[in-house]
Amino acid sequence: MARKVDIGVLQRLSELNGPAGFEGAVREYIVKMAKELGAEVEIDKLGNVIGHVKGKGPKVMLIAHMDEVGLITSDIDDGGFIYFSNLGGWDTRLLPGLEMTVMAPKRNLPGTIGMKPPHITSPEERKKVPEMTDLFVDTGLDKAALTRAGVRVGTPMAPSTSFRRLSQKRVMGKAFDDRAGCYLLLRLLEDGDLPCDTTFVWSVQEEVGARGGGPAATRVDPDYVIVVEATIAADFPGVPRQKIISRMQAGTVVTVMDRMQVADAGMLDALLEVAKEEKLKVQLKKPGIGATDAGPIHLRGTGYRALPLAVPTRYIHSPAGILDLRDLDNTERLIAAMLVRLATKGA
Ligand SMILES: [Zn+2]
Repeated sequence: MARKVDIGVLQRLSELNGPAGFEGAVREYIVKMAKELGAEVEIDKLGNVIGHVKGKGPKVMLIAHMDEVGLITSDIDDGGFIYFSNLGGWDTRLLPGLEMTVMAPKRNLPGTIGMKPPHITSPEERKKVPEMTDLFVDTGLDKAALTRAGVRVGTPMAPSTSFRRLSQKRVMGKAFDDRAGCYLLLRLLEDGDLPCDTTFVWSVQEEVGARGGGPAATRVDPDYVIVVEATIAADFPGVPRQKIISRMQAGTVVTVMDRMQVADAGMLDALLEVAKEEKLKVQLKKPGIGATDAGPIHLRGTGYRALPLAVPTRYIHSPAGILDLRDLDNTERLIAAMLVRLATKGA
C-alpha cells in the first residue's frame, strides 16, 4: 500500500527552515500532517507540537526535535552585509561560501557567506579559520532594502540546501538532525494500531540546550520516553576507529550514556532484547558524547524513564547530511516492536 508519509515528506521536512526558536514553518507542516493522520494535536506555550493517540497500556512519549542548527542576525552594516551569531553548534570552518536563506518575515532572501578569494588573501590568512564574528551574509540588497524586507537583529538564517536522492537508498539534505526523527514519528503515527497510550512530541529548541522537551514531558507525564534522534555516523575516511561514534547501516544507534543522561537501564535492556527477537540491527553509541532531549526530560517532575535512539547520519550540524533509508526503516520497526514490548512485558 502506498504510504502518505513517504520520501516526499522527508524531503519537505528537510527543506523547511526551522532553526532553534524559529520552528514555525516546520511546526505548521507537522501539525497538518499529524491531524491528517488522526492524532489529537495541541501546541504548548513553548511551541512544542503534542499529538496524542488514545490507547490502552502504558503512557509512552515519543519525541523528536523540529529545530535545526542555523544562524541569527547580530548586525547589519551600512553596505547591507549581515553579521551573525550561531543558533546551535556550528563548525566555523564550514561557513564561508555557504548559500544561506535569510528568513525575512514576508519572504525568504537568498544570500551567501562571503569570503575574500584566494587572489587577495595571504598564505597566512588562508591557514587560519576565520572568526564567526568576522563573517557576513551578502544578499545583494542594501541596508534600506533589507530593512524594508523586515530583516533586523534577530532574523534567523538557515542553509539553502536542496534535498537530493543520491541512490535508491541514500539521500542527502539539511536538517536530518532531527527531521529524520520528526519523519519517523509521522511514520509511526501513520502505522496506527499502537499498543500503548502514545503521545508524539515534536519539540522546539533542542539545538540550543534541549529546552523544549522538558516542559513537554511534564505536560504528558509519561511512563516511558523514547527520544528519536539523528546522530553522528563517522564511518568515513580520516576518523580513527575509536572515534567512530556510529556507522551507517550498522543499525539503530542506542545511547548508553551521553553528556546529560545515563540511559534508563531497564529500557535499554528491553530494547536490546526486542532487537534480538525481531532480528533488527542495533549499535551502541560511544558513551559520553552529545546530548538529547532525554537529558532535561529524565530530571523533570519526580523523574522520567527515558531512552534515546538515533538514525546514524553522516555530517550532522553541516549544510548537507547523508542518511540511508534502510536505517530509517530499521529504526521505525524497532520502535514499533519496542512499543509492543512496553505494552506487554514492560521494561
Ligand atoms: Zn538532534
